[in-house]
Order: sequence, then C-alpha cells, then structure tokens
Amino acid sequence: MATVMDGRALAERIRAEVKEEAAELGELGLATVLVGDDPASDIYIRRKHEAAQEVGIVSTDIRLPADTGEEELLERVAELNADDEIDGILVQLPLPEHIDEARVIRAVDAVKDVDGFHPFNAGQLYLGRPTLVSATPIGIMTLLAAYDIPLSGARAVVVGRSDIVGKPVAHLLLQQNATVTICHSRTADLARETLDADVLVVAAGQPALVTVDMVKTGSTVVDVGMNRTAAGLVGDVDPGAMEIAAFMTPVPGGVGPMTIASLLRNTVRAARFRRGVLAFPHA
Ligand code: NAD
Repeated sequence: MATVMDGRALAERIRAEVKEEAAELGELGLATVLVGDDPASDIYIRRKHEAAQEVGIVSTDIRLPADTGEEELLERVAELNADDEIDGILVQLPLPEHIDEARVIRAVDAVKDVDGFHPFNAGQLYLGRPTLVSATPIGIMTLLAAYDIPLSGARAVVVGRSDIVGKPVAHLLLQQNATVTICHSRTADLARETLDADVLVVAAGQPALVTVDMVKTGSTVVDVGMNRTAAGLVGDVDPGAMEIAAFMTPVPGGVGPMTIASLLRNTVRAARFRRGVLAFPHA
C-alpha cells in the first residue's frame, strides 16, 4: 500500500513559512484579474484570496465583465504593473474568446508574473535558470522533495503537455536529472510508457485515464487531475493504483493545496525580486 503524499499537510507548513517571510518583507500585494463569471474560475480566485489573506498578503480582487475589451484589460494590467504596492499579478485563465490570451500574458510585467506564464519566465525555465515558475509544477516538485523521492537517473513520465502543468513539470524533472518522457493525446501506446515510470505525473484531465495495470510496482504517482464527476472530484489515476505504487498523491488533498501554497510562495519570490533581495535577470 502506497504512502499517501499529503499535500494538505505540507501546504499548511508552507503557508506558515510564507506568513513569516511575508512579514519580514513588509506589506505584500497580490492582484488577481478575472474576466467574466466562469463558476470554476470564481472558486479558484476565492481560494487564492482566502489563502493570501490568511498569510497576511494584501489581495486585490479585480472582476471585469465578460464583454471587457482586450485594450481595456491591457490597460488594467498596465496599471497593476505600475502600482508599487502590487508584487504579484495573476490573470485568471481561460479568458473569453474575443481576448488574445497570449498578448495579455505578455503584457504582465515579468517580475510580477506569479503564474510564471510570461514568455520570459517560461524561457528561463526552459534554459534551466528558473525565475518564476507556475505554481502547480513547483508544488509537485516540492511534494516530491518532501517525500525524498529520488529523481536523479529516475525514469519520469509526464502525461499531458500543457503550458501550465505538463511542459513546466517535465523541465523541472529534467533539471533534477530525471530521464523524462512526455506523453499526450497522440501518444501511440500510453501504457507502454507509464509502465516504465519510476515517477509518473499525470495531468490530462481525463478521469481514470491511468488504470491500475498501467502503474509500475513501487513507483511514485502524482495525480494532478481534477475532474468533477457525478461521483465527486476525481483525479486522472484510478485510486486502486495505491495498491501498486510506493508513493501516491490523493485527489483531493494532494497537488491542489500545493498549488495555492506555491502561488503564495511565488508572491514572496516576486516581492524579493522587486525589492532587490534576489536579482531578477531582466529581459
Ligand atoms: P489541458 O487540457 O491544457 O492539457 C491536457 C493534456 O493532457 C494535453 O496535453 C493532452 O494532450 C493530454 N491528454 C488528454 N487526453 C489524453 C489521453 N487520452 N492520453 C494522453 N494524454 C492526454 O489540461 P491542464 O491545464 O494541463 O490540466 C490537466 C488536469 O490537471 C485537469 O484535470 C486540471 O483540472 C488539473 N489541474 C489541476 C491543478 C491542481 O492544482 N491540482 C492545477 C492545474 C490543472
């Protein structure tokens, strides 16, 4: 039976650390921008604000109507870039279809980009010199480190190639000297790849995509999936894999809480960059 990787408990410890670090830096500000009223985005945003306030980060919740124009949104982002009291800016995705998401991401000042989506920060990660890295991948790496999962020389398989989870986590695993395979919806034989994985990270958004017979005995399984089904919130991996793996994250209570804690950590990191405590390699 696998050791359950308890993201909730670890996230609580990180939040306590962040609270102390934030207090040392003085007043920290995190601004979020939500365009439209997507219910899932609303829940995520509310959770982020609750968590920020709990650790003493001043959070600003900007809500704009669904028909907000791209130029107007860019103006709001520019105001936040110029606001000295704002250390971190997060534009909640997805944006409505009439807005060019990539253009908005590029408009956020890279030093305030706590989501790590700006091409400068994404490029730094690709080059192996991470500055600000998106919260879910960083949270996954923190969990793996907390449970002393060996990565150097390990075979790591990532299922999913999104810019938000799959690609950045694959880079972070590579930087820890794992041999990394990235699988996606066109992968010919997924089971053949996953069965080889010492460390399997699944971020596909498909309930039970990874079945018990696809998991290597004694491996570490990180289930990033968050799928709302009639049976409640489920991951991408059959929970029966707990019988096969040595370590596994539960859903809920695994990667989810680590994401929010890592966002708070990124806000502290952004504040350190802006205050010159850490050097930000400007583009
Ligand atoms: P996405 O839809 O952008 O990407 C999904 C990826 O999975 C794609 O690259 C696709 O090629 C791959 N994929 C889809 N079906 C597949 C299949 N049958 N076989 C192999 N690969 C397949 O999703 P995302 O934003 O990366 O999110 C993935 C999942 O992680 C979702 O369930 C999302 O809700 C969840 N998520 C959780 C957190 C968290 O904090 N726990 C954060 C971000 C995303």
